[in-house]
Amino acid sequence: MAVRLDLNIAESSRDYSRLDSTIYNRARVSALNVMVVGAGALGNEVIKNLTLLGVGAIYIVDRDVIESSNLTRSVLFCVPHVEQIIAKQTWKAEFAASRVSEMNPEVRSVPIVNEIADIGLGVLARMDLIFSCLDNELARLELSWSCQRVNVPFIDAGLGTTNYSSGLISIFPGIGGPCYACRKGRQRRREILQELDGIEDPCWMKERRLEQQGTVSTTPLMASVIAAMQVEAGFRHVLTSAVSSSEEGRSIRVTLAPEPQMESFSFGVSPDCPLHESRVGEIIKLSGHRSAEISVAELIAATKDGIQCEEGGILCLDWPLIVEAGCRRCGRVWQPMMRKARFQRVASCPSCGNTSLVEREVLTSIDASSPWASMTLAQLGLPLNHIHEVYWGGSANSRKYVELSGDWRDES
Ligand SMILES: [Zn+2]
Ligand SMILES: [Zn+2]
Repeated sequence: MAVRLDLNIAESSRDYSRLDSTIYNRARVSALNVMVVGAGALGNEVIKNLTLLGVGAIYIVDRDVIESSNLTRSVLFCVPHVEQIIAKQTWKAEFAASRVSEMNPEVRSVPIVNEIADIGLGVLARMDLIFSCLDNELARLELSWSCQRVNVPFIDAGLGTTNYSSGLISIFPGIGGPCYACRKGRQRRREILQELDGIEDPCWMKERRLEQQGTVSTTPLMASVIAAMQVEAGFRHVLTSAVSSSEEGRSIRVTLAPEPQMESFSFGVSPDCPLHESRVGEIIKLSGHRSAEISVAELIAATKDGIQCEEGGILCLDWPLIVEAGCRRCGRVWQPMMRKARFQRVASCPSCGNTSLVEREVLTSIDASSPWASMTLAQLGLPLNHIHEVYWGGSANSRKYVELSGDWRDES
């Protein structure tokens, strides 16, 4: 159970009037649904700022538990008896959400303990603004791609990895604008796209290397500076009409030492970036249907209206899905039903625990006649509240997008 601090801030004692003459106008800020992805050093600071400003709702996404090393840089986790919270393996997302409610009961907080690529696109589509406070490029790329698909502005920030005295904030405006991969340049983009197969290099690994080298780090201070600028940039983007053109992204680089410096630059869509081809179109809402009940074949059939086509429809998966795996040591074969990148990070043999595994069958799409099409979406491990894409080939050459409204009931 979370430790509760009785701050006793009555609703009436919270006076937002000084914000009303700013862009942080109460009516507009309290209507915002905001997602923060990553509840580490940066995420903690961003969540704190959003809570004080009184946004409508904060969705907090993180897949990890709180550790003692977080306490020098994570304001939300610094509470009495934190050692008990660490001993209980408490999820960062859940604890951060409980702290939001304590600090400002007017803000709705929703924890999501998951990886970004396993969260349904329908959840992201309902956000006004998404803050990326992630520590690895692969997850940033996954998030950026999803934000592009549903046209939600995405504000990324990161602390320098070779020099903790610097940080970078980037604004990705959504459809029509550049994505995370666009800004990376051709060579780095190719490397990250290859990493979609699973290699990660989170900052804590880099940090450990730096600590071994005896480099002085200023993470808590940089996180505070960068997070404040990240929230400001995001709010300006959604709350003012004087935002830059939606075809342009913008980055701000901040350096504190040896000399304080700030530079700002813009960037556009890279013409050879492959990640701009799959924007979600008009969404068919299947009322009453749930992922746990509807099969892939039924989902495909439900999108057939208006399609004149000899060929059957195909469910396109956002990420490769491991449906059958084998153990190199004991020979066990099982059906993990897990996204490939996640499988490579966490999977082990259910019989012997060995982690040397064979991916026996990987799906990137499922057509209606496939043996997998009789399984429900939930059995296949596809995310709840997702916007599924069905492709009709041949002369139809059409893409349909479907959402199951029953999933939303399951979530609440
Ligand atoms: Zn791009
Ligand atoms: Zn085994």
